[in-house]
Amino acid sequence: MSETAPKKIHLLSSEVVDQIAAGEVVERPAHLVKELVENALDAGATSIEVEFDQGGRRVRVTDDGRGIAPDELRLALARHATSKIASADDLWNLHSFGFRGEALASIAAVSRLTLQSRPHNAKSACKVVCEFGRIGESEPTGGNPGTTVLIEELFANVPARLKFMKSEAGETAQIKNTLKALALANETVEFRLRTKGKLEHLWPRAETFLERAKQILSAERLYEAKMNYEGFCAEAVFAGPHEVTGNARSILVFVQKRFVQDRGLQAAVIDAFRGLLMHGEFPIAVVRLSAPTDEVDVNIHPTKSQVKFRDSQPAFRAVNRALREALEKAPWLEKKVAPAVVMPYPSAEPATKKLSVADLTRRYEAEPTKSNLAPESSTPPSFETAPVNSVGRFEAPEFNAVVLKQKHDGVTNSVPSNADAATSPVDRSATAPAPKLGPWSRLQVLGQAHLTYILAQDEDRLVLVDQHAAHERVAYEKLMRAWSEGQIDVQTLLIPLTVDLEPDGAEALVSIADELEKLGVVIDQVGPQSVALRAKPAMIKDAALAKVLSGLAREIVERGGSFVLEKKVSDICATMACHSVVRAGQALSQEQMKSLLAQMDEFPLSSFCPHGRPVSVDYPFAKLERDFGRIV
Ligand code: ADP
Ligand code: MG
Repeated sequence: MSETAPKKIHLLSSEVVDQIAAGEVVERPAHLVKELVENALDAGATSIEVEFDQGGRRVRVTDDGRGIAPDELRLALARHATSKIASADDLWNLHSFGFRGEALASIAAVSRLTLQSRPHNAKSACKVVCEFGRIGESEPTGGNPGTTVLIEELFANVPARLKFMKSEAGETAQIKNTLKALALANETVEFRLRTKGKLEHLWPRAETFLERAKQILSAERLYEAKMNYEGFCAEAVFAGPHEVTGNARSILVFVQKRFVQDRGLQAAVIDAFRGLLMHGEFPIAVVRLSAPTDEVDVNIHPTKSQVKFRDSQPAFRAVNRALREALEKAPWLEKKVAPAVVMPYPSAEPATKKLSVADLTRRYEAEPTKSNLAPESSTPPSFETAPVNSVGRFEAPEFNAVVLKQKHDGVTNSVPSNADAATSPVDRSATAPAPKLGPWSRLQVLGQAHLTYILAQDEDRLVLVDQHAAHERVAYEKLMRAWSEGQIDVQTLLIPLTVDLEPDGAEALVSIADELEKLGVVIDQVGPQSVALRAKPAMIKDAALAKVLSGLAREIVERGGSFVLEKKVSDICATMACHSVVRAGQALSQEQMKSLLAQMDEFPLSSFCPHGRPVSVDYPFAKLERDFGRIV
């Protein structure tokens, strides 16, 4: 037993209370910059300038907003003093960034803060200085309409916090990122950033989100996406899968114009890029979500860097679908190929003679199924021998653009020009101008290189297409389509295959048995941790399927929900596609190559294989000419 008497309880002095609160709101200079800029935005500013040095220990934020009345200047620095809400109900109908009335008080507790303001109808400005929590008297001063807040000697009275500050460079980077985020959310406001007096960034007022994103993001080409889903409106600006980064930091998410850290929405972005990125690659995307005000709680974190949705599902869907739909249109293909290509060579007379690779012609003329050059020719998944529509309707390994089109008529209308490419019999004499070919069919096939790449050209570049990756993509898209239409070639197993799963795995799989059946996967529960596989898609190997199923079960147990399934279907189809298509090392005829390209036009996303590897590589003639020293 302790001998000492209980310790005395007492109320903390307001000074200590302020410092504790300051620790929450202004942990780092970047947080302070965020609070001050948000105040300027709340005041309706059209132009905001941020100037800082010493890694943010000295910051000045100037705005042209509506200002503060002289008799309220001192009150603005008091804790819980705000002009933005009056009652708790207002928290559910917020239209401002601020509402807690804490930022100025917290910052003033740990710095020397000068607040100067002039409402637009006032003749002159007033200012008040607060020294580490001690508010001085307000006095008149000169100045433009609007408000300026100057912070000096940040954290001078809390040495412990000073120690936690990162290097000057680290804090500077953080402040810049914060400002970028604020600017991305508020394109109609002009932003200026000065460091040590030097103007570093000027982002003029922009008309659109895309225009602002172009001012700030360093991606070469950016595209737009938008989606309304159950009252949730998601808009996004993103770079194509050609421009990626190695971490998720280039995915910026805003909810109600607030920059937030939300793993769920970040996952929604990453998932939209499924099948387009390689392992370890992350997209560049800025997403802005506006939700009905009563669907989202922004008051769960002192720095408001997190939000909570009443139901996160529609938020996720809005973001995910906005991006996915935009990606499925593959906007990067549009401008890559000039609309009217006049081929310099008639492709009926293959231009392979012009190539210096001697055996290219021989290989390319070789009869595909008889080729003994193909290392995997023992069981070649060639177009002739592949199962064609015998039982089900899956015809991935078959290169018949005509059949493909008939079967899926009306599905491809998102890319009108492709329908034409596919209905016309495979272009047998490319000399005849085909007016509305898709970007891939429009290429002139020159030959096959290394039994792996289709060599083609258009008017301004050489294009190498990875035949396996291309075919895999086409097969994958067809499978996904067959799945969504409920048409998959199914093989019943005479002896059911037992698949072992982790705890609760069987129940998880059984819960989605109907969906699996649509994929041609029929299972029965035979134990808590095992299922029997009774039927499977004809195209996939047992072992590969067992692996996919156990992974699927694990994910449902961990994360639940139908979204998991949608993603997994994609994984299953990718695996199936990979096992069913033409390999590298297999000779292809001119017709087969053209047919493959024509099929790629069926699916706009076909510039990436389902594992995210690029399907084609370009060599612009301009580059060749530079390499040959023809031009400098
Ligand atoms: P909050 O933003 O949560 O209301 P703050 O402590 O950040 O709390 O600001 C207190 C009040 O001071 C605000 O409600 C607003 O009325 C006023 N204020 C602060 N900054 C500005 C500014 N830049 N322009 C006009 N008014 C401001
Ligand atoms: Mg505020």
